[in-house]
Amino acid sequence: VEAPGQAAVAPQVLPGVRYKVAVASGKGGVGKSTVAANLALALKQLNLDVGLLDADIYGPSQHLMMGCVDPPRVTEDEKILPVNGNGVKVMSLGFLLDPDTPVIWRGPMVMKALQQFVEDVAWGELDILVVDLPPGTGDAQLTITQQLPLDGAIIVTTPQDVALIDARKGLFMFQKVNVPVLGVVENMSAFLCPHCGYRTEIFKSGGGRRTAEELGVPFLGEIPIDPEVVVTGDAGRPIVAARPDSPAAQAFDRLARAV
Ligand code: ADP
Repeated sequence: VEAPGQAAVAPQVLPGVRYKVAVASGKGGVGKSTVAANLALALKQLNLDVGLLDADIYGPSQHLMMGCVDPPRVTEDEKILPVNGNGVKVMSLGFLLDPDTPVIWRGPMVMKALQQFVEDVAWGELDILVVDLPPGTGDAQLTITQQLPLDGAIIVTTPQDVALIDARKGLFMFQKVNVPVLGVVENMSAFLCPHCGYRTEIFKSGGGRRTAEELGVPFLGEIPIDPEVVVTGDAGRPIVAARPDSPAAQAFDRLARAV
């Protein structure tokens, strides 16, 4: 109980981390985790110290995509050390889940784990921490965004209409918790033929830009659809690290500079 007139001083959360930026999406499967991983790597290539916090409670995948082999270690003073993945400090709910057992996370358990990621992980000095949020804009996402002190959020969408409507919900959610939306990025945009360079708009085009305009937030660019994105992500060395000269990697570089 506080003495009268004595205000509670909130403990400083993530004191060594300069910026905390979330990557969000209205629904699953739009490439949110892929964008988060490659954005983290593209920021790293700009010589920044980068962390990646996988808060995707439904399908944490960053430990695999970032090629983290060993689980996190705990120091004598009970701090959890994030795992190095391609030069980025990674902490993922996936380290805690048995991949063969579907675990039903109850709200309080998830929040406890995430709270630990924020308070007990030795992130050290970071220029930027990229947070991979669970897909969707429901209560779980709202609670997480309330718990994490975010400086901004990026919304990932595909050019399709269904995904576009969801982006709108995402914007409203972040407005509710006073987190500025830095912009919309369109993933799985046109396919560029690696042989002739021909551009095929598999999922239509221009939707991300249109949504950004409608929502009144910046359009952060298009990431092309590219089978190499899948292969490199599955291999634990995402395309930005594996093939920095590819059009997709260059699109992630532009995204990192825009952020
Ligand atoms: P989410 O986190 O939104 O559920 P993921 O990042 O897991 O989505 O991506 C879903 C699938 O789409 C994965 O197999 C991933 O490799 C693939 N993918 C994501 N972005 C691209 C892209 N630009 N080109 C090709 N495949 C992609």
